[in-house]
Amino acid sequence: MSKTLDIAIIGAGPGGLVAALRLHQRGFRPKIYESVQELKPLGVGIDVKVYGTKELDELGLLDEFRAMSVDAKESIFFNKYGQEIYAELCGVHMGYLYEQRFVHRGTLQMLLYKTVLERLGDDAVVQGQRVLGYTNDHDGSGVMLDVQNRDGTSSSVHADLVVASDGINSVVRRQMHPESADPVYSGITMYRGTTLMKPFKSGGTILHIGAPQISSMIVYPIADDFEGTGLTLVNWVVEAEREKSIEDWNQLGSVDEIMHYYDETDIPFLDVQQMLRDAREVYLFPLIRHDPLDSWIDGRVIMIGDAAHAMYPRGGNGACQAIVDGGVLAEKLDSIDDVDEALQAFQDVRLKAVNGIVMAHRGEGYEIIRRMVEERTNGERFADIEEVLPLAEADGIFSTYHKLVGQERPGHDDGEATGFRTWDVLASEPSA
Ligand SMILES: Cc1cc2nc3c(=O)[nH]c(=O)nc-3n(C[C@H](O)[C@H](O)[C@H](O)COP(=O)(O)OP(=O)(O)OC[C@H]3O[C@@H](n4cnc5c(N)ncnc54)[C@H](O)[C@@H]3O)c2cc1C
Repeated sequence: MSKTLDIAIIGAGPGGLVAALRLHQRGFRPKIYESVQELKPLGVGIDVKVYGTKELDELGLLDEFRAMSVDAKESIFFNKYGQEIYAELCGVHMGYLYEQRFVHRGTLQMLLYKTVLERLGDDAVVQGQRVLGYTNDHDGSGVMLDVQNRDGTSSSVHADLVVASDGINSVVRRQMHPESADPVYSGITMYRGTTLMKPFKSGGTILHIGAPQISSMIVYPIADDFEGTGLTLVNWVVEAEREKSIEDWNQLGSVDEIMHYYDETDIPFLDVQQMLRDAREVYLFPLIRHDPLDSWIDGRVIMIGDAAHAMYPRGGNGACQAIVDGGVLAEKLDSIDDVDEALQAFQDVRLKAVNGIVMAHRGEGYEIIRRMVEERTNGERFADIEEVLPLAEADGIFSTYHKLVGQERPGHDDGEATGFRTWDVLASEPSA
């Protein structure tokens, strides 16, 4: 396809920025239109799976990404009392070719932003430009965007192709699929925060505590020696029933509403309540059900990332799937001469697969093992986890999930058990 194709990307989140870099790698010169006046490193933690790290490596950003993130070593699941249910290794420690890494969403976004400016030029990202809607040309050869400028005035931008990566509140999605414009609140709100503290366990451990939705907590480190303090910045997310909060990633909350969930939680290497008390900030975000769409294309407009396939932020795949979109789209636009055929080819590869992940997350994904234990014990302590949730059963759930998201476990075909319980490993390690 001609590299003079004029491509406008809406939104400079991870999805839009990676799409710009991938298109640039293939010789295109897209331009990003971003609504905020000035991009800032907002958000808290993101769990970048092995296939996300692979994408960043293919963009030539692996070293910089490593320097700002934490290597994920192990993932451990507990019930609400702090009794261990299951554990598995992560990334290269599991045998994958790439690392799984934990990072601050804003830090990663700033790396991608800086790289876009370096590679595509300072004018590649225009900030303070809020897209209000689009109109396809009558002859199907391009799109007119209706834009609100920084000073409140309006203008129009014409492009041969529009890639909409305008996130979970996408105006493009609303225009393209008005029937799915009013998503359903699940009744669950996520409390998301960070705490500066000493590293715990391996220094690269992710913890999953309690039953999903009732008082579920996920904890993982996102930056070592944060700002030279010698301490680790730890990300945590708590799911709790709550009246609906707005879908704004920057809405503030308080730990007072969730502290009591952890009165009986006793994890040997982490004081959960202290971590919550020491939170630097707490944000709320509602779990909203956005139904999977049957098309992401309208003429010369295509949606990617959260705009196309917003998913519950469980299992750490939202950002990674957004990142993958950019590479696939660029490859199709590069290798197929006809723009419309290229868009269709992108959708053929991505839509069914990603919708499967959207639905799996709605059903709790692999986090379901915590619910199973909660239900099988009636919320009581257990004496022997093997009698409640045998290792082989948990292993099967994890293997199925990893396959679904495109990172089948190494060794799985041989029927190897890859999950474990940390006390088994500790018992088999030679004593010092
Ligand atoms: C401020 C913020 C904080 C976040 N924090 C977290 C977090 O802590 N943990 C987590 O897992 N996920 C977080 N997310 C979501 C996460 O970034 C996405 O789930 C994932 O990375 C997919 O990225 P995306 O680029 O598709 O969407 P997003 O990251 O949501 O990016 C969308 C971009 O489009 C811009 N935009 C929106 N509407 C318009 C418009 N009409 N015109 C022009 N530009 C527009 C937005 O300002 C934003 O920069 C956050 C998103 C945002 C915007």
